Amino acid sequence: MNHYFILVATMPDYQVLARKYRPKIFREVFGQDPIVQTLKNAIKKGCTAHAYLFCGSRGTGKTTLARILAKALNCSSLTADTEPCNSCTSCRQIAAGSSLDVLEIDGASNRGIDDIKTIAESVGYCPAHGQWKIYIIDEVHMLTKEAFNALLKTLEEPPANVKFFFATTESHKVPATILSRCQRFNLKRLPLEAISEKLRMIASDMAITIDETALARIATFADGGLRDAESLFDQIIAFSEGSITKEAVQEVLGLIPHELFFDLDQAVASNDIRVAFNIAQKLFLEGKDLHHFLEELHAHFKTILLSKLGSEADPLRKEKYEASNKIYTQEQCLAILEMIAETQSNIKTAISEQIALESLLIKIVRVRLRVPLEHITRKLIQIEQSLIQLKEKPTAEPAKAEVKTHETPPASPQAPPPPAPAPAPRAMEAPPIMHEGRKKAHYDTLVQFASVELDATVQHKQKGK
Ligand SMILES: [Zn+2]
Repeated sequence: MNHYFILVATMPDYQVLARKYRPKIFREVFGQDPIVQTLKNAIKKGCTAHAYLFCGSRGTGKTTLARILAKALNCSSLTADTEPCNSCTSCRQIAAGSSLDVLEIDGASNRGIDDIKTIAESVGYCPAHGQWKIYIIDEVHMLTKEAFNALLKTLEEPPANVKFFFATTESHKVPATILSRCQRFNLKRLPLEAISEKLRMIASDMAITIDETALARIATFADGGLRDAESLFDQIIAFSEGSITKEAVQEVLGLIPHELFFDLDQAVASNDIRVAFNIAQKLFLEGKDLHHFLEELHAHFKTILLSKLGSEADPLRKEKYEASNKIYTQEQCLAILEMIAETQSNIKTAISEQIALESLLIKIVRVRLRVPLEHITRKLIQIEQSLIQLKEKPTAEPAKAEVKTHETPPASPQAPPPPAPAPAPRAMEAPPIMHEGRKKAHYDTLVQFASVELDATVQHKQKGK
């Protein structure tokens, strides 16, 4: 996913959406139902663990969930549905970040042994208001080895009224000794629909009209991160006047208009190379991000391939994808995906990004002219068989061979190499007996033929080397 910087500076008291609409109770947490249910049950039964680890990619709600759990555990008037009341002193202090019982520590900036020692020393004091003293350590994987060791000692014998909630994007960096002492929850990246639903809710709350395509685009771009989606939405609201259209979203996000990909498909169908150049030029003139374009192009062909394999196509562009689906074979889709991946890894070292892109697009447009792999395989098997036959047959007496070659008509397969390969090679007849020289020429022709189709080069080696 792309990184971008966002400036929201409309009013001094403006609160960014991600903060304004951050869930305050369990029910408002989107897309993590099994985790929420497990936590609520544990609170209800009074059997919460001493340490929890919330793992998941950024913006999936790890610290939000940890905070709600902290509030619920210390709330003096928990609702019947095990939700924090958000109005008692404890709830309000936790929300304001001023609670003495719930301490939030950023593991990235407090990663040393001294920081953890300070925690270990304060662990012994009783909670000031609530029932529990809770330490929320964000980005816990950033702690140093020594800090982890100090933390481990506390975790091994935690005081009765202390709890640790850890959050991390990289759980593999957390030592196994720590992991084994935590109850672990993996927060999922949110499905498109869950993100769209949350944005729809925000839009309706703010009385903003936004069309469904625009909504879907923001959700797709956020790639499973709700906080990213909300930040993008913030940016688009600041940009748009009145209602939000898909064009505005495209403009703000620098998105590649999807029509370009369908234009490319049509160019493949009609073998129109000009379109390849036009697309490349358009991208460069508009200053689009090439890496993003390649990602989107990859996603486009993946969608076509998956729809050929029976998956449901993108519902927003179902008809267009159905049309594109008919243009390619499965093998061609695979070949294109490979070409894109190759360009993605080579583009950094390319002398000219534009030329690299043009070359990729031309290859895609010409994909249907490629000789199918099975033809090449068949051809190579034939070459192999004919070589075996030549070897097995003892070299015929010169006189007999002479006669045979004379019988062969002039337009025989021994003709000199054709300038270009035929798109679909025909099955080959058994080779007639030939002179050594002619055998070699025939063999060379076949090898050249195969090399052109395989896009390879032929290297001649001296005998005995
Ligand atoms: Zn409360």
